[in-house]
Amino acid sequence: MNDISQRLQAIRERIQNAAERCGRDPGTAELLAVSKTFPVEALQEAVAAGQLLFGENKVQEIMAKAPQLPASLQWHLIGHLQSNKVRKILPLAAAIHSIGSLSLARDVDRIAGELGLFPKVYLEVNLAAESSKHGFGIEELRSSLEELYALRRLEIQGLMCIPPYDEDPELSRPYFVRLRELRDELEKSGGAPLPRLSMGMSHDFEIAIAEGATIVRVGSAIFGERTYAMP
Ligand SMILES: *Cc1c(COP(=O)(O)O)cnc(C)c1O
Repeated sequence: MNDISQRLQAIRERIQNAAERCGRDPGTAELLAVSKTFPVEALQEAVAAGQLLFGENKVQEIMAKAPQLPASLQWHLIGHLQSNKVRKILPLAAAIHSIGSLSLARDVDRIAGELGLFPKVYLEVNLAAESSKHGFGIEELRSSLEELYALRRLEIQGLMCIPPYDEDPELSRPYFVRLRELRDELEKSGGAPLPRLSMGMSHDFEIAIAEGATIVRVGSAIFGERTYAMP
């Protein structure tokens, strides 16, 4: 077994254990393998080890990699999406985790209509109100919900967050709790289910699962350290 398949196997076991520890069915916590910056060969190793869900943060990178890999893979866009790239990504992405503003949501809805698609999307929440990050503010999301639900092309899955990074994964927990509580609140006030939570990365995915993540986005723990910084 190569490194990638070994690490993938280890992550899967940790996901399973984390789910079982809190009494969850392990099948409810999916693993998104975040392959940004890694070459197609690395993804092929993961595919050979049974991985089908891949996350990338750039539209161009999905466009470059997808044609070189099996059509059965599912690509999730997890990075910031610019409106001028929506038309390109919609036919390729199985889900978009980074709907972080009403104007982007409107553009995705309109273009999905033109293309005859119903994209699966997550609403990204900027919980710590970091100016360096995209995403809805909490208040902004509350007041935008009605209009978001009126965008009939969007299949809104749930919420996504990227907590401020700290080496100590326990410091991510309060953010995961807030995302789950916000989800519960919006389900009540909006009257529509938001069943999914996209949260947790290499260093904190077990805590995310304990707090309700349904998909964890794990990159470096599978593929190794990236040689350039995450944009
Ligand atoms: C890069 C990235 C990840 C994965 O980060 P790792 O620490 O390598 O697991 C997860 N989510 C987003 C949004 C990312 O950009």
